[in-house]
Amino acid sequence: MDPILRVENLKVHFPVTQGVLFKRQVGTVKAVDGVSFTLNRGETLGLVGESGCGKSTTGLAIMKMLPASDGRILFDGEDLAGFKGQRQKQFRRSVQMVYQDPFASLNPRMKVRDLIAEPLEVHGMAGDRQAVQTRVSELLDMVGLLPYMADRYPHEFSGGQRQRIGIARALALEPSLIVCDEPVSALDVSIQAQVVNVFMELQRTLGLSYLFIAHDLAVVRHISDRVAVMYLGRIVEIATRRQLYASPLHPYTRALLSAVPVADVETERRRQRIVLKGEVPSPMNPPSGCRFHARCPMAMPQCHNDDPPLRDRGDGQMVACHLAE
Ligand code: SF4
Repeated sequence: MDPILRVENLKVHFPVTQGVLFKRQVGTVKAVDGVSFTLNRGETLGLVGESGCGKSTTGLAIMKMLPASDGRILFDGEDLAGFKGQRQKQFRRSVQMVYQDPFASLNPRMKVRDLIAEPLEVHGMAGDRQAVQTRVSELLDMVGLLPYMADRYPHEFSGGQRQRIGIARALALEPSLIVCDEPVSALDVSIQAQVVNVFMELQRTLGLSYLFIAHDLAVVRHISDRVAVMYLGRIVEIATRRQLYASPLHPYTRALLSAVPVADVETERRRQRIVLKGEVPSPMNPPSGCRFHARCPMAMPQCHNDDPPLRDRGDGQMVACHLAE
């Protein structure tokens, strides 16, 4: 194993303020509250959970777009917190992000050529006009678009094509890690698979590592080597794709999986949806004990007080649940 990214007990907390000039702190939103995982080189780790569980905040902290309140993030074995000057610039090139809404993330007044060339210029890697032209064409080709498209504006493209432009832009600086924040969630189901295939092909040819954030398990199934499931600021289960989809251990993972339609007609007919009671509690006041206890169909008295740690069962599958102890 060769970790490119190691996240250790990451916490991202936001103060909640009130009063004149919002100076009085009245609480803390614990958006990410003790998350640890490793992403190996060339691997895709799916990070899944309902909206508000902290998965996108985790992605933004990895990008250094949000400060960590506690814990460490190591990139290539080095703590991000210590990156300054040249090392910081190098990091900004090596780690890129692809966003959920390609339309919002692309400046509508810029031609595709300029959108893709912009990061090269910002990092002083553009070269002359001809070199930019060649590199833009190469990047368009890598994501399945044609060279003449460089002269068009984002609104002239479909959602799937716009996301391909977003990917080309992320690739411009030759990153080794891409944080993909819900990159296919805004697309039609029929287009999602095509864009996921683009990601997979690029990984095969360029050896990229992906942290692939999504809100449902159906989307990450095809692309992930391993999957981490988040609930209320914590990871509740991490497993290989095979382990997670064949034998999920955490009741929350089981509930999420029960909502995923199955291709086989007979299995689909027998599929029983686990409907969770109540809403996700506020990250300002997470419940005591197991954070999932108020919604868990398997909750026991112990779960109200004892917070189950994320434990490795010995086969790489890690789960935070008293039932799996
Ligand atoms: Fe449910 Fe208890 Fe397991 Fe939490 S620890 S998931 S409440 S059984």
